[in-house]
Amino acid sequence: MNKYLIRFNKSHGQPGRGTDAHVWRVFENGVEYLAADVKLNVPSWSEAEGPDWNIACSGFMQIDHGTGTVTIVDKPAEEIKPQRSCDGCTKCCQGHLHGTAHGHSFQSGKPCFFVGDKGCSIYVDRPHNPCKTFKCEWLSGDYLPMWFRPDLSKVIVLKTQDKDGEWLEVCEAGQKMDSSVLSWLLIWAANNKKNVRYQIDGGTNWIKNAV
Ligand code: SF4
Ligand code: SF4
Repeated sequence: MNKYLIRFNKSHGQPGRGTDAHVWRVFENGVEYLAADVKLNVPSWSEAEGPDWNIACSGFMQIDHGTGTVTIVDKPAEEIKPQRSCDGCTKCCQGHLHGTAHGHSFQSGKPCFFVGDKGCSIYVDRPHNPCKTFKCEWLSGDYLPMWFRPDLSKVIVLKTQDKDGEWLEVCEAGQKMDSSVLSWLLIWAANNKKNVRYQIDGGTNWIKNAV
């Protein structure tokens, strides 16, 4: 059973804080998700009043990625939480993958010839490697919050390994990393003892938290 605190997202629509529609902050055991709508199918209560009022409840989270709706239910989340999907994100195709598609090369800093406003224009015929196999950390795990999806957060997180251990590599994707993205990341990495290497305005920084 998880503990949830739900609050209004005062900065919705601002960089790194979801779209205009993401008006709710949902904290699952302290980890933040942004949502357009929240439904509670469990008993709830309040733990704060005034401008920072909240709603508290216990249960398990369901996420409808199509509508951005979070529903708190009394069944185990593992049985019902849907898989993440790229939806409208195309960040990795915009100069973060290396490969060739139908004779057109793409690489770091050079977007793929086939990426369009609505995603891959040759989706059915896209190459197996890297297009079908690549998954950023937001897509392959569930520890990064929903608003960390690369087209929303403007960062792509990858996992690498070297002689110093495992690293989370955080690449700027289209703009300088927003301070809200960086602060969430550094707190999470410290709390979870993860090494993190990150770009700020193109420069590389790193913090080693793993022992
Ligand atoms: S960056 Fe991640 S979420 Fe975005 S399209 Fe690539 S794999 Fe999907
Ligand atoms: S072929 Fe499609 S999936 Fe592959 S990099 Fe290009 S736009 Fe992305």
